[in-house]
Order: sequence, then C-alpha cells, then structure tokens
Amino acid sequence: MSQPFDLLVRDTLVLDGTGSPGVRRDVAVLRDRIARVADSGSLTPAARALIDGRRLALAPGFIDVHTHDDFALLLHPEMGFKVLGGVTTCIVGNCGMGAAPFRQPPLFALLLHLEGLPGTWEGYAGYSERLEDEPPSVNVGFLVGHGSIRAGAMGGAKRAPNTAEMDAMRALLREGLEAGALGYSSGLLYEPGRNAATDELVELARELVPFSGLYATHMRDESTRLLDSVREAIEIGERAGVPVQISHHKASGRDAWGLVRESIRVIDDARLRGVDVHTDQYPYTAGSTVLSAVLNGAFGRFSGAPVVIASSPARPDREGRSIADIASELGLPELEGAQRIADDDPATTIVGHSMCEEDVQTVMRHSVTMIGSDGIPTLGRKPHPRLWGTFARILGRYVRELGVLRLEEAVHRMTGLPAKKFGLEDRGVVREGALADLVLFDPAVVVDRGTFEEPEVPPIGVTHVLVNGTFVVRDGAHTGARPGRVLHRSR
Ligand SMILES: [Zn+2]
Repeated sequence: MSQPFDLLVRDTLVLDGTGSPGVRRDVAVLRDRIARVADSGSLTPAARALIDGRRLALAPGFIDVHTHDDFALLLHPEMGFKVLGGVTTCIVGNCGMGAAPFRQPPLFALLLHLEGLPGTWEGYAGYSERLEDEPPSVNVGFLVGHGSIRAGAMGGAKRAPNTAEMDAMRALLREGLEAGALGYSSGLLYEPGRNAATDELVELARELVPFSGLYATHMRDESTRLLDSVREAIEIGERAGVPVQISHHKASGRDAWGLVRESIRVIDDARLRGVDVHTDQYPYTAGSTVLSAVLNGAFGRFSGAPVVIASSPARPDREGRSIADIASELGLPELEGAQRIADDDPATTIVGHSMCEEDVQTVMRHSVTMIGSDGIPTLGRKPHPRLWGTFARILGRYVRELGVLRLEEAVHRMTGLPAKKFGLEDRGVVREGALADLVLFDPAVVVDRGTFEEPEVPPIGVTHVLVNGTFVVRDGAHTGARPGRVLHRSR
C-alpha cells in the first residue's frame, strides 16, 4: 500500500500552465510537491485532506511578474492582497527600485511605507537572508534595481558615471546576482535611472550573462515616443545578449493611443531575429505612480479623465479627490496645483486614466504578454485596485465576460510562461514532481471586486491556494501560513 497523500483534489478541471485546454483529473500532493496527476476517480481517497474539485479549476499558482512588494514582504508577510487572489510568487525589484544597497533607505520605500521600515540589511544577500528568516506567505524572486545601485554608486548625480562609479555599480549588481537575483531592472522615467544612457545599461546587462539573468525595464517614454523606447529595450538585450522583459506594456496618453499595435510589431520583429523579449501588463485603463515622478513633463499624458490622489499620508484629506478639484480650490491651474500637492506631500501617489480599453485588449492578445499587477502596497489608503484584483480580473472580465483570452491561454500567461522566462524550475506547471504552488478557483464566478473608491477588497471565486504544498488560503480565507521561499534562477 502506497503512502497516503497530504491532499487529494478529486475530479477537477486541470489547467496545467502549458496552454493546453483543461482536462478533468485527480491531483495529489505529498509534502511540497505534486505527487500524482491521474484520471478522475483513479486515485484512492487515502489523503489527510480531500477536496471535491468538481466545480473548480486547478492551475499552477499565479506568478506576479511585476510588483513593488520588496518591503511589504517583510512588513506584511501574510501578503493577503496577493494570496487571496491566487498569487503564489511575487517578482520584486521592478522599475529600477530594489531592496539594496540599503545604507540609506530607498526613497520609494519611505514613500510607500509610512508604517515604518523593517530594519536594514547588508546588500541583496542580507535581504534574501531576512526573507528566509522571516518567510512570507508567497515565494519571492528578486531583481536588482538599477536606480538603487546607481544611487549607491554615485548618489543622485545627473550625468554619466565615471570609471570608478561604473565599477562600483557593476560590483553592486554582481553582489545581487551572486545572492540569487533573477536579473536587473531599470526605471528610465524616474530619478536617478533616467540619467543613464543606453551604453551604461548595456554594460551592466553584460554582467547578467554568466548568471542567465534578464533585463526588465520601465522604459523612458511610454507615450508618444513608445516605439523609440521599445527599440532601446531590445537594443540593450541584443547588444548584451540577454533576455528582455518590457514592463507594463501600454500607450499612455491620448496622443499615443494605438501605438501598441506598432510596438507589438517591433517586438515580433526582434523575436524573429532571435531576441528573447516579452512584456507584462496589468488589466486596467488607469495607471498609478508617484505624483512627483511625472511632473517632469509626463503629467500631460493623463488626459481625458480626472487624476485622483491614491495616497497622501501627510494630507489624507486629499485621498480620493481629483487634482483638478484641489487645484481649483487652491485657485491654481491643474499643473501648478499638481506641483503644489507634490510639494505639500512628496509621498503623494496618483491614479490616472491614461490608457484606452482597445489598447489594453490589443496588448493582452499578444502572445508574449505576461500578467504583472504593478500593485503599489500603500495599504490602508486608496491604492490602485490592481494591487488586489489583477489576476481575478483577467479570469473574470477578460476571459469569461469579454472572451479576449481563452482560459487555458490566460493561465499560461500567469504561470508556465513567466516560470520559463524567469528560470523558476519546477514551477508554473501542474505535473508530477513539480512543486505544489496551486490555485483552485471557480471559473464561473472568479472576478475582482475592488474599485477605485474601495480598492482593498479581495476577489471572489479564489477558493484554495497552496504554496510549496501548504494551504495559505482555504475556503477563501487566509490560513496564516507562511511557507514562501526565495527563488533563484535555474541555470
Ligand atoms: Zn514601472
């Protein structure tokens, strides 16, 4: 008699993460791995836990490839805003903003986490150790932030690095890669990353090669110069010989709408030349960022609809109000009003409806688009609802209601595709021997519920979530378990 399983899910619709259509199976878990995947009804119910899977679909846990949870993982280790939506792995360190070097608390952490910072650490090795000592409920893969290492090497200098500074940046990057980083990210809209020329980014990307790391980028311009930005991202990957991940692919601002049809063509051409380039997306027409970061000329892209304050810890009375409204109260034109609001509280974050629905769907249909929430974890305020709802919104609104993607394709973009791109071995797939990061959801019901007025609401229809074989969500409720691990790239 074989040993009993820890969990048996009977007769469920298995979406295995490869993009193949769902098939009904029994799935058994033993310790942290998937022990058996077999015909429905063929596995004996000798298991410590039994789930009737008839109304549910079972998929690999969702991989959120674009997050800013570097500090939230330690401050809010249960990560309810992720696991209650089926996310089992977060990739942190995006948009050039990483968790090290950490002599000076990184600006973004100070802006997002008024509740305080979780102490300090030495380098990415120190960060990784902290996560191992105080594990969160989700797995974590981290990227080195270009803006962070640039600030570490040369402060906020608005010029090219000299040789010594370039060496210092390279050393900081290598430290991160040796500590297990999956690659490095840039934030070329933001200070200090926007001061980097293409050559600097190529030089650094060459350091990724022996580690099989990838280059992820928040590009210089996601508006009318979108195509130049995409070409720059591809050039960096091509010259350095590394894979590229274009973050939150979109055309921002009315004048740029429609450009994604051309950026997709640029990406497809590069792929035909053999460049390994992918993108990610959050499924909303509204973006969100730090207000002060877009006052250098990018504010105008938020055209057509009100720009609303998402969080302002120094002026909480302004949260949820539009900038136009506050500006007129101050007797100022909108742009000057925005400047005053940023001066009053540099930590102000905004939500603005800068994209169009047609572009969102065009990008989503592109076969190389993965899903990344880009959620900003300013808990207790008015974060963009993508923080909680991204994955359920894809499954509910874009798969079930609008038919933009087939269910198995959507799951592939959230699981198998990112696992392969980021080198996460034995994840993102439902097969015997793979690690048991699993989500069980009701495809007839699953959908996001958060709104811009009330964003902090978990989705419905996500029933059970396992991370490394342990329930973190059971019957829709967080179990309190924190079985997350730090994931390194398989070479
Ligand atoms: Zn970004």
